[in-house]
Amino acid sequence: KDDNQNTNTNKPSVRFHDVAGLDEVKEELAEIIDFIKAPHKYHKMGAKIPKGILFYGPPGTGKTLLAQALAGETDSSFFPTSGSEFVEKYVGVGAKRVRSLFEKAKKGAPSVIFIDEIDAIGAKRTTESNNEKDQTLNQLLIEMDGFHSEQTIIVVGATNRLDLLDEALLRPGRFDRHMFIGNPDLHAREEILHVHTKNKPIDENVNIKELAKRTHGMSGAHLSNIANEAAILAVRNNKKSIGITEFSEAIEKVIAGLQRKNAVIL
Ligand code: ATP
Repeated sequence: KDDNQNTNTNKPSVRFHDVAGLDEVKEELAEIIDFIKAPHKYHKMGAKIPKGILFYGPPGTGKTLLAQALAGETDSSFFPTSGSEFVEKYVGVGAKRVRSLFEKAKKGAPSVIFIDEIDAIGAKRTTESNNEKDQTLNQLLIEMDGFHSEQTIIVVGATNRLDLLDEALLRPGRFDRHMFIGNPDLHAREEILHVHTKNKPIDENVNIKELAKRTHGMSGAHLSNIANEAAILAVRNNKKSIGITEFSEAIEKVIAGLQRKNAVIL
């Protein structure tokens, strides 16, 4: 059964232009793209290609999307997984899954491995022993140390909490590049709304900039949700295109959801 883990590899069609905002991060990633596309240039110069990148920041800000775009831009095989998929009751299962994941990535190279919620396996080790988790993390470190830079594999980890991660994971040669992926500012929100309304019929009087102003503090995932909710409402209202009424209602709905969530936290 384990062999079925992480077989959902593909070559994503996502490109950088699908990721709105995050210009600085995209610039940093341009360098990584060059490594993947022309590794020999770097090998000849005796330079080591980075193996691991960490995306950190709040949820729903495009970390998964960026990792997909990294694979899409370089025509790499994409292996998406989540740290929580490795955590099992039985000692050795997680480690075996890590091994099999890297085997597949080597076969499919160039590859981008994406480990969402990497803190599920990579959190700081405590004195209290947790054999299964420790073995899984050790196996990940072994794999990252083990592959040669001739095999172009980039491991992208994502977490909401960089401070939780074990230092062994952050050492040079492992996840040594850290990129903060934050909530979008006004301009980025406008761009994200454009991306998510591009293929939708929108009333002429809908002003995307105004919508961006009304969605302060929201993530890309929230904005994508608003565009979708508005489209659903337009269908329900028998409209031919999405109007300001639908957008307003969708925004209210997301804001109400956020307030509920905050109320629970408080
Ligand atoms: P999590 O930490 O919860 O895993 P994440 O940071 O990986 O979240 P994604 O899964 O990449 O977030 O984003 C969720 C969805 O939100 C995306 O599929 C996309 O539709 C939308 N989205 C988020 N950020 C952006 C962005 N910068 N540009 C365009 N769409 C975005």
